[in-house]
Amino acid sequence: MKPTKSLVFCRASGKSKTLFQTKEKADAFIRFNAAEILEKTGKAPVRSYYCPFCCAWHVTSKPSQKEGERLDERDNRFLNNLLNADQFKKEIKTIAVKLRTRMEAIDKAIETCDFSLADELIKLSRADLKVMAALSLNPYVVLRPKRQLARRVVLISSLRKS
Ligand SMILES: [Zn+2]
Repeated sequence: MKPTKSLVFCRASGKSKTLFQTKEKADAFIRFNAAEILEKTGKAPVRSYYCPFCCAWHVTSKPSQKEGERLDERDNRFLNNLLNADQFKKEIKTIAVKLRTRMEAIDKAIETCDFSLADELIKLSRADLKVMAALSLNPYVVLRPKRQLARRVVLISSLRKS
């Protein structure tokens, strides 16, 4: 329960406020009463602060402006990460499909000894792999196509020499 006996009129906030002698007591009050107060009034104290007018601690349901901004930023970042993760996954998939198709085209170019075309396709694939690696949190995603590409590069250089 709210300790009504230590309720004072606070000049700083312009309303009746509960006084706490220490920050620990104010924080403990939040810990033990926030849920009940939220249920009763629709808003709960979230932080304690020192009031220089009362020379004591109060609790408030308002996050500080700085804290509010920090929380907003955190929420936005979290939301963006979620959206991006989904978007990134889609893009990675698209690139993977493109790479697979291009790998077949490279094979065809090698078969027909069109090495300049093969080189061009390999250059494009390398650029795609870079994008893929940048989008992916998991480095293993690019390992397989990278290996497939490297195998073809080796094959082309050995065919060129012969
Ligand atoms: Zn005060």
